[in-house]
Amino acid sequence: MSTTSKSFSTRAIHHGYNPLDNEGALTPPLHLTSTFAFESAEAGGEMFAGERPGHVYSRISNPTLDLLERRIAVLEGAEAGLALASGMGAITAALWTLLAPGDEIIVDKTLYGCTFAFMRHGLAKFGIKVTHVDMTDPDKLTAAMSESTKVVYFETPANPNMRLVDIAAISEIAHQGGATVVVDNTYATPYLTRPVELGADIVVHSATKYLGGHGDVVAGLLVGTAEQVAAIRLFGMKDMTGAVMAPFNAMLVLRGLKTLALRMDRHCANARQVAEMLEASPGVTKVYYPGLASFAQHDLAKRQMPGFGGMIAFELDGGIDAGRQLMNRLSMIGRAVSLGDAESLIQYPASMTHSTYNPEERAEYGISDGLIRLSVGLEDIDDIIADLHQALTADPIRAVA
Ligand SMILES: *Cc1c(COP(=O)(O)O)cnc(C)c1O
Repeated sequence: MSTTSKSFSTRAIHHGYNPLDNEGALTPPLHLTSTFAFESAEAGGEMFAGERPGHVYSRISNPTLDLLERRIAVLEGAEAGLALASGMGAITAALWTLLAPGDEIIVDKTLYGCTFAFMRHGLAKFGIKVTHVDMTDPDKLTAAMSESTKVVYFETPANPNMRLVDIAAISEIAHQGGATVVVDNTYATPYLTRPVELGADIVVHSATKYLGGHGDVVAGLLVGTAEQVAAIRLFGMKDMTGAVMAPFNAMLVLRGLKTLALRMDRHCANARQVAEMLEASPGVTKVYYPGLASFAQHDLAKRQMPGFGGMIAFELDGGIDAGRQLMNRLSMIGRAVSLGDAESLIQYPASMTHSTYNPEERAEYGISDGLIRLSVGLEDIDDIIADLHQALTADPIRAVA
């Protein structure tokens, strides 16, 4: 891919683990333990006081999670990492740590449905001001920043409509106002975008998606400075959410990371072909894919991403009814939420992942009712295209459309 991904796969496979430290075991051991024995009463006391390294209890740290945390940190180009129970666990643990009543968080217009619900109905309920700003225009952030802005938060590409945010430009403005920048990097993965290298402070992930990559685990990760990560570990995770990743799930995510680069290259190649095919299909009115020349932010995409990922959003001229028919006619592509799996998956944000928005909010925040979200999988491209083609050209669709 590009020079920015040099050494990426090698690190994803080897970083932080030496088989000779573990009886020669090629694969890291799975530490299924809730608690850890202290050498002496004094040693235990010192560990609690943070004066001595070591593990105390698996709601705080565990050696299997520790390896995953070091690996995601190096892949993201950050100082430290933290493994959590889910993407929402990572997002909530970070924000409960960074924010207090009276603070303001400025967020982009489009957010993943449950993140939107957490901000809107969760944080707001505890006296935190949540302000939505269209971050595709950095000047709007400059105008919105206030004394009380403590966090600036966005996704790029955003779920589900693929809007991009210029990480370097937004981070600079946020930092001038003294705010911490948190980026949800679930769609791009560190293989395609490394927000910390572009100026962001904290990166959160739903590792359920591309990082795990096989649809068999719900998991979250975050990275930041050692100080920020320690604060989130010891407060947001340990005390506020308890959203701890299970060691077995850490093993599944470690396994997924080994093939991340390989899978992302294939996701990118397949998605590009699907996007071009959809754009050339008569019943399709709009295709949102950063790699298309017709994409509104194509220049930013080329600057910020060495590849354009596996996610596509599109609209049909028959609107929501044609969309439902298209989905029902697919025979190989799965009708399911989630994304980033080997299997291609299709869903309707308005009635599924983003039904946490009410219709007025969806209109305001850029999620049209006819929008369809497609996660292009790793199947043979001819089979993916053939399935979409037969579903798009079938008679009943035309009748409605
Ligand atoms: C799925 C998703 C989340 C939530 O992650 P979970 O692992 O399901 O908790 C957060 N952000 C984005 C962009 C997502 O796609």
